[in-house]
Amino acid sequence: MIETRVLKVDPIEPEKEVISEAVEALLRGGLVAFPTETVYGLGADSLNKEAIKKIYSVKERPPDNPLILHISDLRELEIVAENIPSFAYELASKVWPGPVTFVLKKKHLVLPEVTAGLPTVAVRCPAHPVALALIKGLGNPIAAPSANLSGRPSPTTAEHVIRDLSGKIEVILDGGDTFFGVESTIINLTTDPPVLLRPGPIGVEDLEKLANLKILVPAFAKGLREAEVALSPGTKYRHYSPQTTLILAEVGQCSNQTTYLEHVKSLINEYLRKHLKIAVICSRETCSNYENVIKLEIGSRKNLYEVAKNLFKKLREVDELGVDVAISESFEERGIGLAIMNRLRKASSRVITCTQTR
Ligand code: AMP
Ligand code: MG
Repeated sequence: MIETRVLKVDPIEPEKEVISEAVEALLRGGLVAFPTETVYGLGADSLNKEAIKKIYSVKERPPDNPLILHISDLRELEIVAENIPSFAYELASKVWPGPVTFVLKKKHLVLPEVTAGLPTVAVRCPAHPVALALIKGLGNPIAAPSANLSGRPSPTTAEHVIRDLSGKIEVILDGGDTFFGVESTIINLTTDPPVLLRPGPIGVEDLEKLANLKILVPAFAKGLREAEVALSPGTKYRHYSPQTTLILAEVGQCSNQTTYLEHVKSLINEYLRKHLKIAVICSRETCSNYENVIKLEIGSRKNLYEVAKNLFKKLREVDELGVDVAISESFEERGIGLAIMNRLRKASSRVITCTQTR
């Protein structure tokens, strides 16, 4: 056990003294958890091999799941990547700083520990003022995955990080809730056409329009289990999971909301008949349809950003309720909705698809 200092930081105008303290910890080879606009990251100096190894050990992360390099300016891209196609600059200049990660051919100086031995590197310039101040303060790219124990839901508050990593890391910068609540969109730019590796806050449709290009969306990027191949090493592991059994009620052939709600209710009734205690993750519009369950209202179907922002918090809450089983509704796979469904599919122990067609 080591002493973990939790330092409050202003998310918009981070205090210089707080950032300096965190930078000193990084320079000593320590780990610092920090807010980004997506989720909290667990950062190390990307040039310090021992510090990178610590990220894997404290998170209990499989050694073949690489990290993301965080830079503070588009101009730093050339320090870590090479053979950068011109559309990569076009896209990056439009979405950075922001919640999009690009996979590119790595430069020699990037440590193999960062990329888990791959010839490619994932790079992002985050938009959160605290993340940017930390990278600038260190003067090197920061290597960081999400600041949770491997397999657990990603942290969207400092409290989540404290629960998973207190006593294991040097500093936690508490900048309040993250803005989007789901991890960055990851696009592989080493192929033509580029491939979506992980859906995130910025939808593929928007990225395609921004740089006038086609992005391939493989089935595994939707989180469909049968389609999981190890194109992005992180995709093959079960992720984001509460310890409680989570069942995802997929829309499948349900042609309207009424038949879909019947599908969810019939699942609920099945477990109620077994005298099980049930939690349901449901939208503001549909929560009132359920009885004899604990309702976890996640947000409005009309605002999928709200649903995304609450997603990991609700998945963590499931475990605090002492229920036997949790059932989650599905959401529309449009824009950030694709990221929501990807995470829900990966978090669930079972998926039960609606087959009612009427
Ligand atoms: P996390 O920030 O915890 O979501 O973890 C970083 C994610 O980036 C993981 O899903 C990795 O699989 C992915 N990633 C990092 N580097 C690469 C790479 N070179 N190629 C493909 N995916 C990568
Ligand atoms: Mg992660």
